[in-house]
Amino acid sequence: MTTKPTIKLVQGDITEQHADAIVNAANSSLLGGGGVDGAIHRKGGPEILDACRDLRASQYGRGLPTGQAVATTAGRLHADHVIHTVGPVWTEEEDRSELLVSCYRESLRVAAELGAHSVVFPAISTGIYGWPMDDGARLALRTVHEEARLPVAEVRFVLFDEGAYDCFELALAELERPSS
Ligand code: ADP
Repeated sequence: MTTKPTIKLVQGDITEQHADAIVNAANSSLLGGGGVDGAIHRKGGPEILDACRDLRASQYGRGLPTGQAVATTAGRLHADHVIHTVGPVWTEEEDRSELLVSCYRESLRVAAELGAHSVVFPAISTGIYGWPMDDGARLALRTVHEEARLPVAEVRFVLFDEGAYDCFELALAELERPSS
């Protein structure tokens, strides 16, 4: 029997969440940025940046490639781990959906390896990287629905504003609608 995780939607600030793992919409430098990334480093404190610098000095000398994920301490956040993943920048010229799917898939894989039961995601790529929210929501929810495995039992999406929350709510309703 495959156990599907419970998917929850919350409107708010991801840095206020309590969970085993919080996913960061990072950039490939791993050295901080705006949006979720900036908020996580500000609230989580310098321990996270130190861990990211160590990663740059070791296996990710050229940065974390788009679509991959790696974990560090969560510093002062209410979590055991931060999982950093780098979303693709949106462009009309090329379909980069597989890279966005990969962010969610790889983050869940890392979370499972860490033994995380609860994982919190932001809407990756939908901020500075420009991905349309409705499409980003569909890809995120479908991937989590298909990929999440034990021990990950709860996946929570934390949406910053009402518009993002509404997109995710609609996409979740579509996903959960029984197919005829
Ligand atoms: P990206 O560079 O991957 O687009 P951003 O951090 O710019 O990442 O934005 C990703 C999404 O997270 C956007 O929808 C943005 O509105 C939202 N966001 C920004 N700050 C926070 C926060 N503190 N908590 C939750 N979501 C946030």
